[in-house]
Amino acid sequence: MVNRRMKTVTLKKLKDKLAKNKNPWIFSGAIHSADKGIINGETVKVLDSEKRFIAYGFYSEFSAITLRLFSWNEDETFGAGVFKQRLTSALAARKRLINSENTDSYRLLYGEADGLPGYIADIYSGHVGLQVNTASAVYYLPMMKEALTEIISPLSIYVRPADELAKKEMIRYPEQCIYGNTPESIIIKENGLKISASLISGQKTGYYFDQRENRRIAAAYARGQDVLDCFCYTGGFSLNASANGAKSITSVDSSADALSNLKENFALNGLEAPDTVKADIFEYLRERNADSQKHDIIILDPPKLAKSQSSVEQALRAYKDLNMLGMKKMKNNGIFISFSCSGRVSREDFIKSVAWAAKDAGRTLRITGFLSQSCDHPINPFFPESEYLKGIVGIVE
Ligand code: SAH
Repeated sequence: MVNRRMKTVTLKKLKDKLAKNKNPWIFSGAIHSADKGIINGETVKVLDSEKRFIAYGFYSEFSAITLRLFSWNEDETFGAGVFKQRLTSALAARKRLINSENTDSYRLLYGEADGLPGYIADIYSGHVGLQVNTASAVYYLPMMKEALTEIISPLSIYVRPADELAKKEMIRYPEQCIYGNTPESIIIKENGLKISASLISGQKTGYYFDQRENRRIAAAYARGQDVLDCFCYTGGFSLNASANGAKSITSVDSSADALSNLKENFALNGLEAPDTVKADIFEYLRERNADSQKHDIIILDPPKLAKSQSSVEQALRAYKDLNMLGMKKMKNNGIFISFSCSGRVSREDFIKSVAWAAKDAGRTLRITGFLSQSCDHPINPFFPESEYLKGIVGIVE
């Protein structure tokens, strides 16, 4: 495709400031006019009200986010080269940041933050899990495939559509393997531990790489300690704590599949299996309110509790309840580690809900550290939405 012939979209006056400041999202309300016949998903040239070039962007006809900008350089010719350049740069950053002796699996490409909106690519020991979030991500899949095979020579590429694809972008794309053969499960290495993960049937893209560094941070406190890992999934925190000499571990999750995967992971590493409990954490902690057993370390890593803007208030109450229930089970001087992965809940509001939780639990919390998503989920400073995981570590008395 040649940029000269590219269709254009013109923004309203005074609605172009964020775009000019490199924020990649443009909502439908900011658009003044668009050329006729733009195909859903196609690349367009975005202009200001004086018809001056701002950026190139991906067009989503049906989404409230109509444009996702990916290049502010008018001379950059659109084509597979753009995909290759973004992947090369993303790979160089991961190679620089991640210790490949201990970790062979990570997020290679994190959408807008890596200059390719709509795509998330995770590496699982040489296999690629590719999430497509937008009409453009599907439209340009052949270019993405070409770039991935050339830049990283993967063993296979397995594509999964994000929930938004059908709901917000009106595109149906069935999950499928588009290159090589993706096995049902893959043994990956993270922080020196073996983990069996599934690109095909695991939650989200299969494994939560965003907690890799926090697992190490939590594990550093674990020697000789009694640990309660809430929302343990396949054992990310539990495994790191066990390998670091935890005395005892209780791992709790509502998913039986996740717990059986967790046990498999302990066996893979020759570690003694922890106590596993299949339960709703809220109920589990409430029921245990009266028992006297308390823990040296508690980890709370719930799923996204605020799924939309309208559910933020409700989510904040849930975070408060959860953290209150957790803090009640802490030993004196215990280490409390708590997260929110809701992009819509700000760090400030999350900390407030934890503070109220401490008050209602009748405990004193001193925050000793702030946690975020791991380095392979970089944050674009012009795009605060790329920061979604926030956590605290603290001492509870
Ligand atoms: N800590 C994990 C990731 C947690 S993802 C890791 O390090 O990999 C969130 C987990 O919470 C999922 O495994 C999901 O099954 C579980 N879950 C969701 N709602 C739950 C609930 N109400 N009670 C218990 N577990 C829940």
